[in-house]
Amino acid sequence: MTRFALREAHAHIPAHGRAMSMLRAGDCLNKEELLDLLGRAGGTGWVLAAGARVNAWADPRWPDRSELDRVQPDRPCCVMSFDHHSIAANTAAMRAAGMSEDEPDPPGGVICRDARTGTTTGLLLESAAMRVWHSAPEPGESERRAHVLAALKDLATHGFTEVHDLLSPAWLGPLLASLDADGLLPCGVRLYAPQAELESQHAAATGPRGWERPRVRLAGAKCFADGTLNSRTAWMIEPYRDPLPGLPLGKPMMTAAELDSALALTRAKGLELAVHAIGDGAVRAVLDARERAGRESPPLRIEHCELIDRSDVVRFAEFGVAVSVQPCHLFADIEVLTRELPHRLHRVLPLRELIDAGCAPGRGLWFGSDVPIVRPDPEDSIRAAVHRGRAEVGPVIAPEQAITEDEAWRCFSPEECAR
Ligand SMILES: [Zn+2]
Repeated sequence: MTRFALREAHAHIPAHGRAMSMLRAGDCLNKEELLDLLGRAGGTGWVLAAGARVNAWADPRWPDRSELDRVQPDRPCCVMSFDHHSIAANTAAMRAAGMSEDEPDPPGGVICRDARTGTTTGLLLESAAMRVWHSAPEPGESERRAHVLAALKDLATHGFTEVHDLLSPAWLGPLLASLDADGLLPCGVRLYAPQAELESQHAAATGPRGWERPRVRLAGAKCFADGTLNSRTAWMIEPYRDPLPGLPLGKPMMTAAELDSALALTRAKGLELAVHAIGDGAVRAVLDARERAGRESPPLRIEHCELIDRSDVVRFAEFGVAVSVQPCHLFADIEVLTRELPHRLHRVLPLRELIDAGCAPGRGLWFGSDVPIVRPDPEDSIRAAVHRGRAEVGPVIAPEQAITEDEAWRCFSPEECAR
């Protein structure tokens, strides 16, 4: 049930559209269904499937390279896991990426091998997965246009009238503007350029022949203060139970000076800054930077905020910093949180405290999905915010931080947005 126009505050429009154009591995309930799907792929060139949830299968084993070769002997073929951290590749795909049989693991990646024979299984993790996946040709201009249109239509069917794109490539603004001019844009879009491209994208958006229009705006810049929970690189105040070697608190990605300069550069353009901060250590570092900037700060939003220390909660309303969260990620993160941060579970998405401290739903507290990491169905975040777990049953995290269904819907409301 959709009650009013909705805002998706954290999406990746081009990636969502591209994933929609791929085979839907997430619909497969076992290996046989996946192999069947891959074998029936039409077209020519690379066969790409996205969204595999192998860990949810009764027999949670990826198809190996020989099985993939059987259904796709000639075309490069890859299946990506839903969390974008691993893929299964056939021989043609590994060859197309220039990955040889005796190749050592790349830095930050793993080429999995059969324990007995030592041959590669086709399962690739992290940087090894990315290397093969990105060997597939990038979409051309007409494909991009089709992908972006498909993604926006999908978001519109979920009731979204305003979508925020967090890390927009330079071609996205002009493409959206041309769709709008053709009367094809189903919702308004606010774009956030990578911090390093703010200058050039701002010039392209606002120059004499700038692409900005009322429904397509360059809203600001995006930067990253830490990594992710699943890779244990999110920056924490207290150590992980089983941290990466040498990184007990995860991995800060920006220094205080870099945060200060990101704020200053964004303010100089009169735009907003969106900072990715998943761990409570990263959230605190961003709030500290905001405090140092004082009245010289641009409008600031912090993305994800999966953990927030008790003492930092009041600082959001105090400084007028927007909390941009994706409660639906609780469904996928519940295991890693319980395993790695059992002593900090009470600090996960403290939505009740944030609202009580003055972050009004929709005005200071925004919901989104981070699509295509998960699907953009707003009901998922409503359920997670109200039930603090997958549904009425199963494990819950910090149930005292639950908010009401009405409050949760208002977090999706653009009317509540003061900007
Ligand atoms: Zn994102």
